[in-house]
Amino acid sequence: MKSNEELVKKMVNSGVLKTESIIRAFNKVDRKNFCMKEHEELAYVDNPLPILAGQTISQPTTVAIMTEAISPSKGDRVLEIGTGSGYQAAIISEIIKPGKVYTIERVGELVKFAKNNLKKYNNVEVIYKDGSEGLEEKSPFDCIIITAGAPKIPKVLIKQLNVNGRMILPVGENNYNQKMKLIINKKDGFEEIDLGNFAFVPLIGKHGFQK
Ligand code: SAM
Repeated sequence: MKSNEELVKKMVNSGVLKTESIIRAFNKVDRKNFCMKEHEELAYVDNPLPILAGQTISQPTTVAIMTEAISPSKGDRVLEIGTGSGYQAAIISEIIKPGKVYTIERVGELVKFAKNNLKKYNNVEVIYKDGSEGLEEKSPFDCIIITAGAPKIPKVLIKQLNVNGRMILPVGENNYNQKMKLIINKKDGFEEIDLGNFAFVPLIGKHGFQK
């Protein structure tokens, strides 16, 4: 694929992108601006790509599936754990503005990389810390999106969800082999939906894997 537009069209045609506001955001955010210079020519291929510190910018189809699943809407407050390149945060920022995205990254050089990529996104705050504990002081959130694989669902994060809030995360004891789980905080309890198998880098931290 040669353009961001073509990449988005492919994801609409394959059925992973469905919602108008989400399609608009994917069209507006050019993935090339979140890839490393040396991988720019691969920016519109539906594959994950290496960034810094052995981490990755996720596959566009995965970003689309996770975004559609949490159905963010205008004005929402969203927490992302695993900023990486900042691409996922930028997509959500476009959908929810004037709402706010808090995104947490544990690797210093990626915080710098993402802040630079996200310069024009005024409703995104990049925070440098262990995100496995969440961000209690800014909770509750309408959506929580974890873009690294956790060994199990961190209870501490569920508590930071609003009523009717949605959380999505890959869960599994093995790195690069997880089940994608969508958790919905309903008035009468939590609903857990399994969205199939995915491969993610590990969530490392107090409520993730140990270093
Ligand atoms: N969402 C990113 C994007 O759009 O480019 C891709 C994220 S990458 C697959 C996973 C990221 O999670 C890595 O940058 C990694 O450093 C980060 N990570 C892993 N454990 C973390 C933790 N406990 N807190 C914050 N970030 C973490």
